[in-house]
Amino acid sequence: MAAATLGLPHRAAAEMVEAVLTKKRPPVIWLHFQECTGCTESLLRTTHPSLAELLLELISLDYHETLLAAAGHQAEAALQASMAAHAGQYICVVEGAIPTAANGAYCMIGGRTALEMLKDVGSKAAAVVAIGSCASWGGIPSAAPNPTGATGVPMIFADDPALKDKPVVTLPGCPANPYNLLSTVLNFLTWGKLPALDDLGRPKFAYGQTIHENCPRRPHFDAGRFAEKFGDDGHKAGYCLYKLGCKGPETYANCSYQHFNEVPGAWPIGVGHPCFGCTESKVGFTKPLHDTADVLRVLPPDQAPPVNPKGGEGADGFALGAAGLALGALAGAGVATAVRMRRAEDIVDGDPPSGGGAS
Ligand code: SF4
Repeated sequence: MAAATLGLPHRAAAEMVEAVLTKKRPPVIWLHFQECTGCTESLLRTTHPSLAELLLELISLDYHETLLAAAGHQAEAALQASMAAHAGQYICVVEGAIPTAANGAYCMIGGRTALEMLKDVGSKAAAVVAIGSCASWGGIPSAAPNPTGATGVPMIFADDPALKDKPVVTLPGCPANPYNLLSTVLNFLTWGKLPALDDLGRPKFAYGQTIHENCPRRPHFDAGRFAEKFGDDGHKAGYCLYKLGCKGPETYANCSYQHFNEVPGAWPIGVGHPCFGCTESKVGFTKPLHDTADVLRVLPPDQAPPVNPKGGEGADGFALGAAGLALGALAGAGVATAVRMRRAEDIVDGDPPSGGGAS
């Protein structure tokens, strides 16, 4: 699953399995700041792997305020113990924005501000992963007028000379797709480096294409068939949601083929709602819902299922989901991922292999 998410061939999947079976589980310290815990909730609902497999076999989750059995002083002691034992080796995952107004007083844990905790834990990490839009750039807490001065991990690190060279991966999304986190961590475990990133710190395997490029409703867009308002015949038939404000054409993410929690069609457009643009700081929580999107990449889609404009069958996320299920363990990855894997086969045929890491 992780290799498919990364768009890597079978050989890379075998290397990942070898790494999981033979290497020490990477320690992970997970910090919660200004957020709704939606990214954790999404992670809790993964089934391949299950949460138990994830925690007991793939990673060592040493600190996570939602999942820890310990509380209070014991929880903070677990954090300090993990940092001391694994300095320079652990992955720090940050969920939530960091408030900077009033010296960070709007979010305090164990007597420390989120700002202090991030700088302390982040400075000793091998790498930092900002999961979700809040940690990536501020997300909902940073929406105007932003009274708490909420911002993201990259902004804090860029302003601090001691932290500006620390590798930071951003996985924006509201919530972020847990498979993008899992694939990033396994990439790190297998090849000792992070996957290739774009200029916003997002892994290219997940954020290299717009949703519009792989959307199952794309044939309707190309044919000029649009839902004009919620509940009309076009909406019921699964037509394109562009006129309802869909931001898919200006949103880089893999939601259209990497659905959430292996439920076919479990993503906004799959259930008939326009993409909100939650992975883009200049779109999600910023651009009005009803505004039409800028079409950034006028390219033909990688792949699209046949469309039945009358019956609506096959005109929503279920079509791609069904194709994904047919691939067994690749459930949810879908046809578009298979196309990307073939492309990756060419890229990865060398040494160092598969991870494609840049940083
Ligand atoms: Fe593009 Fe959105 Fe229409 Fe899909 S529903 S084809 S992403 S505009």
